[in-house]
Amino acid sequence: MINIGILNLQGDVEEHDIMTSNAFKNMKIKGKTTLVNTLKDVYPCDGLIISGGESSTIGMHLEKTGLDKYIAESSMPILGTCAGLVLLSRNTNKNQSTLGLMDISVKRNAFGRQKFSFESEIELDKKIINGVFIRAPCVEKIGNNVKILSELDQKIIAVKENQYIGISFHPELTDDTYIHELFIKEIQDYKKKVRLNKPKISQKYLLNNKNP
Ligand code: GLN
Repeated sequence: MINIGILNLQGDVEEHDIMTSNAFKNMKIKGKTTLVNTLKDVYPCDGLIISGGESSTIGMHLEKTGLDKYIAESSMPILGTCAGLVLLSRNTNKNQSTLGLMDISVKRNAFGRQKFSFESEIELDKKIINGVFIRAPCVEKIGNNVKILSELDQKIIAVKENQYIGISFHPELTDDTYIHELFIKEIQDYKKKVRLNKPKISQKYLLNNKNP
């Protein structure tokens, strides 16, 4: 049984939830999803999806709840889409605090403002899928260990480093469960290789938090 957490703060939480459940069905895998607001919610999860939204706001929530330290320490696989990609990065062009789990620098709003949102066919893993881009970031610099999964107009839009996958676009807004299946496969592989470190939930994650 695989349990995938979906960070429940902003963005397409419900859509990610549905797409993950559909991906489990397509793959004929036993799995469930958990909406994650607190450390207690994330504790049983084998992986986490961080959806789009406003990365600075989501970042503050992660810090406030202690989820930032916890998910880094647990080393659970993470799929970050759009704002989620920004949060996985080490640096952004806006100098905000991020999780810093991937050795990448990202440029926020790299394709322009909301009114320049667009859809485009993209190639990922030798497969053509539809990408929905809404104030999307792109990856500007990558470390040696980072694999580029896809590019569009000479901009890097999908990357993988170990158990972390970051993509600029919104797979949850299409009918194609390909990206969610890719993430489930990653969790399966990772589970075979690594026993997840599930730290006990403790006050140390909640330091600086006046309203847990
Ligand atoms: N531009 C937003 C950010 O950087 C992300 C937009 C999105 O997630 N659709 O936070």
